[in-house]
Amino acid sequence: MVSRMHPVPAWIRELPKAELHVHLDGSLRPETMLELAVDAGAALPASDARGIAAALLVRDARNLEEYLDRYRITLALLQSRDALRRVARELVHDVAADSTRYVEARFCPALHTPAMTEAEAVDAVLEGLREGEVATGCVARLIVCGLRTLQADVSERMARVALDAASRGVVAFDLAGAEAGHPAKEHARAFEIAREGGLHRTCHAGEGYGPASVTQALDDCHAERIGHGTRIAEDPALVERVRRERIPLEVCVTSNVHTRVVADPAVHPVRRYHDEGLVVTINTDGRLMDGITLVDEYATAHASLGFDADALRSVARNAARNTFLAGAEREAFLDRFENELDEHAARYPADREHDATLATDDAAQAHPETERP
Ligand SMILES: [Zn+2]
Repeated sequence: MVSRMHPVPAWIRELPKAELHVHLDGSLRPETMLELAVDAGAALPASDARGIAAALLVRDARNLEEYLDRYRITLALLQSRDALRRVARELVHDVAADSTRYVEARFCPALHTPAMTEAEAVDAVLEGLREGEVATGCVARLIVCGLRTLQADVSERMARVALDAASRGVVAFDLAGAEAGHPAKEHARAFEIAREGGLHRTCHAGEGYGPASVTQALDDCHAERIGHGTRIAEDPALVERVRRERIPLEVCVTSNVHTRVVADPAVHPVRRYHDEGLVVTINTDGRLMDGITLVDEYATAHASLGFDADALRSVARNAARNTFLAGAEREAFLDRFENELDEHAARYPADREHDATLATDDAAQAHPETERP
């Protein structure tokens, strides 16, 4: 299992959260991988769950490309509808355990052919997400990804596959994959197809490449949110634009350390972006690949970047307000979420957060009812 770098205070564990950026194929349970490997006849880098978790945890990648290489191992296990449905269902159960009330999982259906059609892959994942949602109450939706490293026509097909399932839980189109040398504007038509069909758009940018990549995502691809956006700090005018236009950033702190975009969580620019009024959210990217949960990421933001209870509530609110839910569903979710945030603020006021932080040791975690201030 994941070993925590910081003791996690109850107020962080109980804070209601929403996750906007998590890759399905980067978030498998190691125990499940063992079983899927038998079914798939696939080889794994270790023979027990602990070994698999260690082998898949990307701490030694030199760059984003090496990080992405790990996905070949998980993708080999996800070449059946049953496997996709299972990992989608389990992801919702796992994020719900982090007090996550809403999750947008993402994956690229083209990576699951010819074992099934791309539409079948989407349906299998949607089915698993729905099962997880019914069982946990955590609302789960899907983002379909194109990949920068594949041909533009594949991205266009992914946008159409996404549109076809828009009424069943697909909320957006995304472009993922190696950023350097693979400009987003080459995939602009896919984003156009999504936009014309009324589908939301987000785009990985400003992670493996600099500010120009973010500008392309916004101007050529009409992205409404930016996946990462870590490197916008290199262009003050872009920071100002992202602030002024209130473009939400899907920040993934630990993942950025693993891909060497930042040297250490303590120097991640998300603190500065938050302080300057940008709309930041905090996400895992890959629970397995990054060896973290969303609770861990919020705890890292607290311990390494000084986000206090009010700041983390504001981050959680940013995520809840910038989901791709629509209409009555969106209103109902936001009502519930805001109520829960108010209750959390009453239980853990900012001026008493230090007391709450101190109430964290193994005994307190084993008896959560004893640690309320
Ligand atoms: Zn990502």
